Amino acid sequence: SRTPDKLRAWATIDLGALERNLKTIRQAMPDYLSYISVVKANAYGHGLAPVVSRLMRANADAFAVANLEEASALREVGVGWPILILSVLLPSEYPEAVRLDVRPVLSSVREVEELGRAAEAQGKCVGVHLKIDTGMGRLGIWFPRFPELLSAIVTHPLLRLEGLCTHFSSADKDPEFTTIQRTRFLECLAKVPAGETENLLIHADNSAGIESFPEDGPFNAARVGLLQFGIRPAPQSLLGKAITEPVLSFHARVGLVKELPKGTPVSYGQMYRLQRDSRIAVLTAGYADGLSTALSNTGQVIIGDCLCPIIGRVTMDQTMVDVTDMPASPAVGNKATFIGSSPSHSISVSQYAGWSNQIEWESLCSLSARTQRIYQ
Ligand code: PLP
Repeated sequence: SRTPDKLRAWATIDLGALERNLKTIRQAMPDYLSYISVVKANAYGHGLAPVVSRLMRANADAFAVANLEEASALREVGVGWPILILSVLLPSEYPEAVRLDVRPVLSSVREVEELGRAAEAQGKCVGVHLKIDTGMGRLGIWFPRFPELLSAIVTHPLLRLEGLCTHFSSADKDPEFTTIQRTRFLECLAKVPAGETENLLIHADNSAGIESFPEDGPFNAARVGLLQFGIRPAPQSLLGKAITEPVLSFHARVGLVKELPKGTPVSYGQMYRLQRDSRIAVLTAGYADGLSTALSNTGQVIIGDCLCPIIGRVTMDQTMVDVTDMPASPAVGNKATFIGSSPSHSISVSQYAGWSNQIEWESLCSLSARTQRIYQ
């Protein structure tokens, strides 16, 4: 890793803020809810191992990842923690899933049979969660057919039913449809024989869903992703009271400063032409570091304590900024902030994502491996 002045593109991750966020969310959540921390995609780009270590210290109850590679990395950090695999596993991955002692989330009788065979081959019992598709149209068994999946699992000698879940498609925007999904899920739960739901984890809510969490009902866990990182997909909500802090900031450096005359085109395709004699700064990050080309001629960065516009097309390794209006020329090596704050300005992940024509999740996951993660 590089000394700070040699960093060209980097993200600073405030682990203290992450830990405080978990505590704040927990305080705002009904206390009968288990906290399943969603840390897939390299903990939303923040770095799996450091994030998970800190969340373990902050007492998350379980973790959810997308695949076995992530699960295996997580196992190295925390032996013994329950790990859910949210994405569908390929049949070839079942033996590894059994070995790693993870909890696959299953959607079909075929998956039950194939995972069951892998469990038999190793003589091991495997805990599983069943997913019900109540309107997301992605994973899960379509809700009217849930009884088939339930009977396949309860009769299997080596597969142990540990949880039932669904996923909301529009928890942040469409409370009516979310209620329809919740109702369909509850109807499925009613089909589980009395007594058998008692020890199950019942979960549906993500960051936005939790915010409108009903006080009653059988739900006893929530899957929290984005909110942990200080971004509130539904700020109007119950958890609107949980004021979470930003965790990640994203920076590059001024690599070159120069004066160019009025009328000069800037960057590929001449998408921008200087309207006046100008001073521009060339920054040491481009789309290979995670910037979206949608920021071209649209986004802003903070240099010093000034907001400066990105001009011309964002290129692979460099991005140009108009610094003419800064009270003094920036120096080579100065920090330029894409996400983060200065005394007078701040650029949130949401604002950056908006300029990037992305959703917040996507902007975070887009930070590339070349962008070094620095932990505080
Ligand atoms: N549950 C599932 C199945 C998901 O796919 C995700 C995220 O994509 C989450 C929970 C967490 O969602 P959020 O980041 O909105 O909290």
